[in-house]
Amino acid sequence: MGKPTGFMEYQREMAANRDPLERVKDWQEFYRRLPEEKIMEQAARCMDCGTPFCHSGMVINGMASGCPNHNVPSEWNDLVYRGLWQEALKRLLKTNNFPEFTGRVCPALCEGACTAGLVGAPVTIKSIECAIIDKAFAEGWLVPQPPARRTGKKVAVVGSGPAGLACAAQLNKAGHWVTVFERADRIGGLLMYGIPNMKLDKKIVQRRVDLLAAEGITFITDTEVGKDVSADQLRQEFDAVVLCGGATKPRDLAVEGRNLKGVHFAVEFLSANTKSLLDANHRDGRFISAAGKDVVIIGGGDTGTDCVGTAIRHGCRSVVQLEIMPQLPLQRAPHNPWPQYPRVHKVDYGQQEAAALYGADPRRYCVMTKRLVGDAQGQVKEVHTVNIEWIKDDQGRFAPREIAGTEKVWPARLVLLAMGFSGPEDTLPDQLGLERDRAGNIKAAYGKFATNLPGVFAAGDMRRGQSLVIWAINEGRGAARECDRYLMGYTNLP
Ligand SMILES: Cc1cc2nc3c(=O)[nH]c(=O)nc-3n(C[C@H](O)[C@H](O)[C@H](O)COP(=O)(O)OP(=O)(O)OC[C@H]3O[C@@H](n4cnc5c(N)ncnc54)[C@H](O)[C@@H]3O)c2cc1C
Ligand code: SF4
Repeated sequence: MGKPTGFMEYQREMAANRDPLERVKDWQEFYRRLPEEKIMEQAARCMDCGTPFCHSGMVINGMASGCPNHNVPSEWNDLVYRGLWQEALKRLLKTNNFPEFTGRVCPALCEGACTAGLVGAPVTIKSIECAIIDKAFAEGWLVPQPPARRTGKKVAVVGSGPAGLACAAQLNKAGHWVTVFERADRIGGLLMYGIPNMKLDKKIVQRRVDLLAAEGITFITDTEVGKDVSADQLRQEFDAVVLCGGATKPRDLAVEGRNLKGVHFAVEFLSANTKSLLDANHRDGRFISAAGKDVVIIGGGDTGTDCVGTAIRHGCRSVVQLEIMPQLPLQRAPHNPWPQYPRVHKVDYGQQEAAALYGADPRRYCVMTKRLVGDAQGQVKEVHTVNIEWIKDDQGRFAPREIAGTEKVWPARLVLLAMGFSGPEDTLPDQLGLERDRAGNIKAAYGKFATNLPGVFAAGDMRRGQSLVIWAINEGRGAARECDRYLMGYTNLP
């Protein structure tokens, strides 16, 4: 423990993000970082407590508490405080292949479980994680490290999101020849074509992909397994296959007017935007523009937030985000005590920007969409809603009840559906005859990651359903370990 009194001497401090009114004029990341001395001071707040919940990753009350990947903040915090940045990097990379991603986009489950947060404000774990890896890249400490020996075994990884990349990185470390198949034109999955550039700069994703390629991983883009190359062919050509295709089936809205022009799934909107930004700085016009439009986003979660930030940068006329659930409390509720993840109301970057531009948070709670109405050309022009209240039924389950007289019509030229995902697509599991779980995900026990087909493993959102980047990294690493064991009869992978 670096400084026993650190948590009493220093307050939690984060760098203020860029001014919302300035940052909405570009697609650069909205973060700012504290100077190095301040980061070291923040690391001194870590008490290296006897039972560090921050790296426990226990599931309490249905939610992970602490880092799901068992990262060990207390160890790198101490090293950072003492200025031992390279040692901190080594410790960080032992558990997390891509801290430059989680340091930017993770909801920091660790901080919700930080012991300092029990009596005050938690340690700024996520910012310190990001500072370590950003410094490492800036100093040139991260150089390609191909394995010293090759096993001669070949593994195909399907999908290049965080699960596929983490899996490929680990299998490559173990000496196997790894080929990653990706149907998109760029590698990264939702890191590339889901999360927008202002939250995770695509140069940061590409920098890691280049490093992995230099370490010996082969990336094949524009190739859909199950269509351009059959799943059986992969099984014949490779010694093992790991499926990391994500949970890409978006949840739809079954209301009248769903098929009107101007109604799109959120990821369709977000991915076309990023592709056009990267291909042509938007000059090709190959994206769904929100410019000058009234935008209604259905879904109040993080994907909806990304749509708010993107629509604002296009120059939309207005934006609202409709959420069917009630607003979360401002403070932890009594049934949500520490060290559980705090289920509290947050104002994310998109909402800050909307408030700065239009004077109010764009979210409206307990609103149910009844129908979408179009004009004579079949273009959406209105969203009709009603407010609801959540009432407990006889079995104690909450159900929505409409409140009479609260019907409302929202002007809308663009409607974005951001209501989550219902699971993986069917092509691959159907072609291979893979068993599914009750939610429709590929059936493979957590920890084993083996499907019902020998030599075929599944990880990430494709196995656990829609989740988080850190879970995908954790699962990719676990599937690599089990795949290595299958290939070699033993494994040294963690
Ligand atoms: C808009 C959005 C924002 C998000 N923001 C955050 C965030 O801020 N923080 C966070 O922690 N999580 C966030 N998430 C969730 C997170 O991105 C996912 O949980 C994570 O990316 C899942 O990783 P994965 O590798 O399992 O799948 P994915 O990232 O979905 O990658 C799967 C890849 O497989 C490819 N693929 C699928 N089928 C085939 C096939 N047959 N052949 C070849 N390739 C195939 C797909 O094209 C895709 O590239 C967000 C999700 C969305 C949708
Ligand atoms: S990956 Fe997320 S939960 Fe884990 S230590 Fe980093 S910020 Fe915390």
